[in-house]
Amino acid sequence: MITLKNVSKFYGPNFQVLKDCTLSVAKGEVVVVCGPSGSGKSTLIKCVNALEPFDSGEIIVDGTSLKAPGTNLPKLRARVGMVFQHFELFPHLKITENLCLAQQKVLGRSRDEAMTKGEALLARVGLSQHAHKFPGQLSGGQQQRVAIARALAMDPIAMLFDEPTSALDPEMINEVLDVMVELARDGMTMMVVTHEMGFARKVAHRVVFMDRGEIVEDAEKTAFFTGAQSERAQMFLSKIL
Ligand code: ADP
Ligand code: MG
Repeated sequence: MITLKNVSKFYGPNFQVLKDCTLSVAKGEVVVVCGPSGSGKSTLIKCVNALEPFDSGEIIVDGTSLKAPGTNLPKLRARVGMVFQHFELFPHLKITENLCLAQQKVLGRSRDEAMTKGEALLARVGLSQHAHKFPGQLSGGQQQRVAIARALAMDPIAMLFDEPTSALDPEMINEVLDVMVELARDGMTMMVVTHEMGFARKVAHRVVFMDRGEIVEDAEKTAFFTGAQSERAQMFLSKIL
């Protein structure tokens, strides 16, 4: 579903943020990406969604190369759900409008169709009773669940998460992770940047460890946790676990 082949990227002339990164995520697979702050995780995930350009290598999403001439990037982007650390809901729009806007504007769905879909997804993340509130009236955990529902409303072929729980108060982390666990168990293709190793243990198929722009480790989950890691990954894990 998602393939990166030897992807390299520079910020400015001298700073190489991604170094020859090769990675693939199969349909229905859940890949957790972890690594120290500044190692390039956000940049990597943004490249997959064409939110950042890259300098060399290739990224193929659902059979389409991002670099191929004629690739419709906005269309491709609309098909890959993205959830950020800061929920990025539209603050001036009620939850229902947040859920309907892109469905209507980007996918051309009717109001009724968008509402039906939005309501179903809001129920799925357990927030039906908040449909007519504004984002600011919800807790961080609730807003993040709305952000996930909003991404799902676009019928994405895959979901990308960039530290979706790291801006949340501890007591709200699990309500968001629970939604993600359910999504993973339903077979969604997911690439998740997170340091929540409990989540990784539960649902990840593979764990990728990045350091200084490189993919240092890409291992099947059990292998990753049973200690076959590189020294750099071990050091990182010893600090966060
Ligand atoms: P991570 O998500 O792993 O913390 P990032 O991808 O956000 O890493 O950043 C990797 C490195 O690139 C960091 O050193 C960061 O300061 C730098 N960086 C990120 N975005 C930009 C940018 N737009 N311009 C220049 N440098 C950037
Ligand atoms: Mg980041």
